[in-house]
Amino acid sequence: MRDSFMQEHGTNRPSDLIIFGGTGDLAMRMLFPSLYFLDSDGHLADDVRIIGAARSDLDRDGFLKTVHERLKSHIAADYYDEAQWQRFAKRIDYCPVDAVEGTGFDALAKAVRLDEGGELVCYFSTAPRFYGDICTHLEANGLAGKNTRVVLEKPIGHDLESCRAVNDAVGAVFTEDRIYRIDHYLGKETVQNLLALRFANSLFEPLWNANGIEQVQITISETVGVEGRWSYYNDSGALRDMLQNHMLQLLCLVAMEPPSTLDADAVRDEKLKVLRSLRPITKQENTLKSVAGQYTEGAVGGTAVPGYLDEAQQESRTETFVALRADIDNWRWRGVPFYLRTGKRLPYRYSEIFIQFKGVPHSIFPEESNLTLDSNKLVIRLQPEENIKLCVMNKVPGLGRDGMKLQEVSLDLSMTKEARTRRRRIAYERLLLDVLNANSTLFVRRDETEAAWAWVDGISKGWRDLDLKPKPYSAGTWGPAASVALTERYGHSWHD
Ligand code: NAD
Repeated sequence: MRDSFMQEHGTNRPSDLIIFGGTGDLAMRMLFPSLYFLDSDGHLADDVRIIGAARSDLDRDGFLKTVHERLKSHIAADYYDEAQWQRFAKRIDYCPVDAVEGTGFDALAKAVRLDEGGELVCYFSTAPRFYGDICTHLEANGLAGKNTRVVLEKPIGHDLESCRAVNDAVGAVFTEDRIYRIDHYLGKETVQNLLALRFANSLFEPLWNANGIEQVQITISETVGVEGRWSYYNDSGALRDMLQNHMLQLLCLVAMEPPSTLDADAVRDEKLKVLRSLRPITKQENTLKSVAGQYTEGAVGGTAVPGYLDEAQQESRTETFVALRADIDNWRWRGVPFYLRTGKRLPYRYSEIFIQFKGVPHSIFPEESNLTLDSNKLVIRLQPEENIKLCVMNKVPGLGRDGMKLQEVSLDLSMTKEARTRRRRIAYERLLLDVLNANSTLFVRRDETEAAWAWVDGISKGWRDLDLKPKPYSAGTWGPAASVALTERYGHSWHD
């Protein structure tokens, strides 16, 4: 079956996938459910095996019991099938390891089938401080040859210097083409649809520049607080946890030049050019172009919630909200603001890319037609639902005594009816499948992460140099008032 599968798909399938941190939250909530669905949809070759590797002293049965319980609690009952689970479970094994001491790696070496010509994917779902040690032990145990690929979870460091240290440690063992840095936003169906919209249609490209676009906004809004991970979050904050990676990756896909092909390096070269064209936010401009906020007690969805500082009874300057204006210094985007905003304990949960086109240069319609002639907008929703809408002006149907009336209507450009009724895929499914197929187009290259950190470090340095405390905002509101002022300063307002 493996041979026929490989012939059919024309790829080398890995024999073994080791998930370091296999007992952790990410593995249980995202990775095992994704693999279960990939398996049930027939995307895993018969002899792909999955080995959980973590510090817990479990045997295979104990590990399987946990995976089974967590899987059932994380996927909708409609999609769970006992027979499918039994088939999937046969692939799973467990090996206790200690990434620091190196114990258990010899057992891993015996379990995998590299010497049978198989391939090995090692998914690092542990804290990044272990990545270097894991690589060293993989190498020492003969598991870091040319048939091994490694997947790195975010965060890759907390600033440029620590990012380089992680990249150096992994790069000392693995060449860059075998390192897959995950940004799960790139696995979302709508994000890939953005590529299709831009590069499979000729309609938008003539307008996709400073002549046609007035402003771009990217928002990732969460209603949750820090969910019991106060000290983890407190070491990062909104700028490092969300903006440096997910939001800048989305900005790159909106702003990049058309790549010559969909090959990994062609796409990543174009994203890198965008990151390198981001105008540094200087200390002088820092308070005009960026806002850091921290939530205080309030109410979200009608429920009272404590403030960020109350949750840990500790002082902290970590921001739980950030809004900023980014400028891209190149011909295409000169003068177009890219507003980025993300925060916790905001009124509702959504992620969106909002693109506002320039208005018509002159209106032929009388004022009574419509109070404001709204400019066209492209609204790309990533969550909670995934869709793409194009807002255009249209005539109100019918005969009116007062002449022609106008209204804004939105055209749904997203998915076919059939796609809408299908199960919504977990973003990790796409990415796991791609790494199994050795396709790195949707993964982040070293130079991208470092360019992103270099830009973000300039902003946090500005906050430190100016001795700025994050501005308070009540939980359940759209962040500090200064965030509203930020866009209004340039004649725009947030698309809430
Ligand atoms: P977690 O704390 O739930 O799990 C950590 C895992 O690492 C456990 O399996 C633990 O046994 C293992 N581990 C700890 N010390 C070890 C050691 N010395 N040797 C071997 N294994 C060891 O963490 P998580 O939430 O699953 O996050 C894992 C990684 O994924 C982190 O880098 C995190 O930043 C990233 N991440 C997590 C999420 C999420 O939703 N949880 C989202 C994005 C990124």
